[in-house]
Amino acid sequence: MRIILLGPPGAGKGTQAKVLAENLRVPVPHVSTGDILRQNVKDSTALGVEAKSFMERGLLVPDELMARMLSERFVKEDVSQGFILDGYPRNLAQAKTLEEIISQRGINIDFVVYLDSSESVIIQRLSGRLVCSKCGANFHIKNLPPKKEGFCDRCGSSLYQRSDDKVETIKKRLEVYKKEVADLIDYYKKQDKLYRLDADGDANVVLNQIIALIK
Ligand code: AMP
Repeated sequence: MRIILLGPPGAGKGTQAKVLAENLRVPVPHVSTGDILRQNVKDSTALGVEAKSFMERGLLVPDELMARMLSERFVKEDVSQGFILDGYPRNLAQAKTLEEIISQRGINIDFVVYLDSSESVIIQRLSGRLVCSKCGANFHIKNLPPKKEGFCDRCGSSLYQRSDDKVETIKKRLEVYKKEVADLIDYYKKQDKLYRLDADGDANVVLNQIIALIK
């Protein structure tokens, strides 16, 4: 199963992708371009150093850098059974790059789930989001507080707030997203691959809707 999760920051793409990736009949990797970039920033790789200033400002990392990063990810064997892609493509040029990269492996995207969410819900979710520094699990200051303040329920590691989850940066990320998304929606609609879901509500409800789609 080769799925793209599309949608604004804070729509729950990462949360849904993590659960889905582990629970499909044949488990597949969750490929999150944001996670790969954050790991590169943490490790101070050349890519991380270049990407950091864009990420901190809520801007897109240049397409050429992203294309190189994605090509490197898609030569790994684990994607041969499928994947759930989260955070890529972010614009039409990236959608075309993705198609080129995966068609070299003789594969194509099965479908695209567009998780749609309203601005007020996104800001509320992201400004209270806490992320585990080790396993990446997400919590929320109000909606999903960890059992022990500051620590992950799953693995016990410390939680942190992403530097781009400040209200001003969230607004910038949304602005960038809105500018590009219409083209992407059009692109996948024309291919008859796009399914829109309302992602404002409960994450479990959305998850069940995605599972129903897959079935
Ligand atoms: P995310 O975790 O998907 O919200 O991504 C966090 C940040 O990483 C974004 O605000 C961008 O700066 C960068 N990023 C992630 N994916 C992409 C992409 N496909 N193209 C450009 N920048 C990206």
